[in-house]
Amino acid sequence: MARYDAVVVGGGLLGCAVAWHLARAGTRVLVVEKDQLNRHASGQNAGSLHFQLEYRMVEHGDDAARLAARALPLHLDAMRAWAGLETDLGRPCGVAQRGGLMLAETPAQVAALDRKAALEREYGLDVEILEGERLRELAPYLADSVRAAALLPGEGKANPRLVTPAFAHAATAHGAEIRTGHRVTALHRDGGRWHLTGADGRLDTADTVVLAAGVWTTELAAMADVRLPAFPVGLTMSATARTAPLLPHLVQHVGRRLSMKQTGEGNILLGGGWPAKLVTRHGRVDLDHNPELRYESLTGNADAARVVPAVMGLPVIRSWTGMTTLTPDQLPLLGPIPRRPGLYAATGGSAFTLGPTYARLLAATLLGGQPDLSLDDYSPARFGALNFV
Ligand SMILES: Cc1cc2nc3c(=O)[nH]c(=O)nc-3n(C[C@H](O)[C@H](O)[C@H](O)COP(=O)(O)OP(=O)(O)OC[C@H]3O[C@@H](n4cnc5c(N)ncnc54)[C@H](O)[C@@H]3O)c2cc1C
Repeated sequence: MARYDAVVVGGGLLGCAVAWHLARAGTRVLVVEKDQLNRHASGQNAGSLHFQLEYRMVEHGDDAARLAARALPLHLDAMRAWAGLETDLGRPCGVAQRGGLMLAETPAQVAALDRKAALEREYGLDVEILEGERLRELAPYLADSVRAAALLPGEGKANPRLVTPAFAHAATAHGAEIRTGHRVTALHRDGGRWHLTGADGRLDTADTVVLAAGVWTTELAAMADVRLPAFPVGLTMSATARTAPLLPHLVQHVGRRLSMKQTGEGNILLGGGWPAKLVTRHGRVDLDHNPELRYESLTGNADAARVVPAVMGLPVIRSWTGMTTLTPDQLPLLGPIPRRPGLYAATGGSAFTLGPTYARLLAATLLGGQPDLSLDDYSPARFGALNFV
């Protein structure tokens, strides 16, 4: 049986980033990953660094937006974190923060953009509404139908294929161990320590366990007899053929699902929350099966992209699906799990954009310090009523 100070379950962005912080602080840490590092959401996502409230946060009305806005302190922190990340990790991550535009095409959408910006400014986000000539000068590629846009200069993109490996590399350079192809199948506490059993029967023990297992986090928590209300959501992405530089900004829409950006290689990535169909088996969602493409999502996403007419002529060369985790209030689940000493959860929300911040704050908590941002609003304790013991 191998002994560690901390075992992190999950070799995505969150798990590798937490391990990096812990290893840097001298913690003996092991990351266990059932497949390959970066195999799931962290490597499949759109790579958007979006710090404005997303469409999914504002589409359900002002009260829901106000609740989701409680994550904005994390957005502000993450915007700064990404700016220094490549230096911190000593590796390229494809980070480019050239600004993001959230578009409005109708008077109702312009009003929604104004309300959203007012809410964001309450939290100190420097959002500016652009219209007319100023907008056309900044973004001549936009369709005439676009009436206004909210500009946030720190938004942008990073390369999902590079970020998690960079965290993993930095973590191992500080002594973290990473074990891939190792699925945790049992988790229990005994003698003041956590005991983890692998599918091959291999045993590890640790003072602390971090559940950073993406959509599987609820499964892992259930092994410790804890219910976490986090739900898998299937999402769709498409990439066009390469084209000459066209789109320097991250483009989103306040009235429909859309995210659009150009990669360093020239492909336009289309996404923004278009659903994919979760696969069920024996009447339950099968998390080990990739969601199925929905034709309506492909056509809907392509239609949303007409706000940048030059994209409409480009062939789509690849579409894919993945799964991410959402909670009922759209806030993350981040922090210690009540009544399970040494057990922590990290999942939910836009954990690519916010991942470096989640990881830093969680590691600070775990190391016994006081994180410089309160995690209270994101604590698993807010769902304590689901757990009687
Ligand atoms: C199509 C798509 C587009 C997205 N676009 C964006 C975007 O543009 N911006 C943004 O901020 N977010 C985006 N997201 C969300 C973002 O990708 C996720 O929030 C983030 O990557 C989650 O990282 P993670 O490390 O928590 O999870 P994951 O990357 O899923 O990693 C969890 C890991 O845990 C492992 N694991 C699970 N169970 C076990 C077990 N029992 N034993 C061992 N290992 C286990 C899994 O194999 C997996 O590799 C998108 C998601 C998708 C699917």
